[in-house]
Amino acid sequence: MSDTLLVVDMQNDFMPGGALPVPNADRLIKTIQTLVHPNTETCIIMKGRRRYHDSYSGFFDDGGEATKLTDRLNEKGVTDLYVCGVATEYCVKFTVLDAIKEGFGVKVLTDAIAGINSDDEAKALIEMMNAGAELESSVNCEQFSHTVLTMDSHPEVHCSFKKDGGIWPKHCVFGTNGWKSALTVIKDCT
Ligand SMILES: [Zn+2]
Repeated sequence: MSDTLLVVDMQNDFMPGGALPVPNADRLIKTIQTLVHPNTETCIIMKGRRRYHDSYSGFFDDGGEATKLTDRLNEKGVTDLYVCGVATEYCVKFTVLDAIKEGFGVKVLTDAIAGINSDDEAKALIEMMNAGAELESSVNCEQFSHTVLTMDSHPEVHCSFKKDGGIWPKHCVFGTNGWKSALTVIKDCT
């Protein structure tokens, strides 16, 4: 196996009505679910679990601590990642940039990502392309038999939360409904 679908942070708190909504993120649900083969093998990578470190990237937090993502992909012989999810200019961008640094080929599925601010989203796409990412449409993709979900998984007290000195509303606290996957097809995994 060489191609993997990497789904970034498609969680209830990032959907409209959630604690930290990304506009139109719910419109991606159907597109992404269509890409996932019914018998897909799914792996979940939790990030942002350390109280004093945030983690936009699915690979490393801002303290440089690695998740198990690179190891899992290497174990499976993955060479290329097709990236979708939210938010384009935050977790998608930082995950893509780290994926390239880690040696993976990256295609960003432009019809399966959503951002918070359209200007920042456009800049992020250029930054990802300049780093070596390619842009692709999901209509050109077969269904994926291997899927990795990154999940923002914060403790009750976290440096990214406004109440704790950060810039974001409290979101994606591990185990809460807001933390859970918004993708019904792989609901059982969370
Ligand atoms: Zn977060």
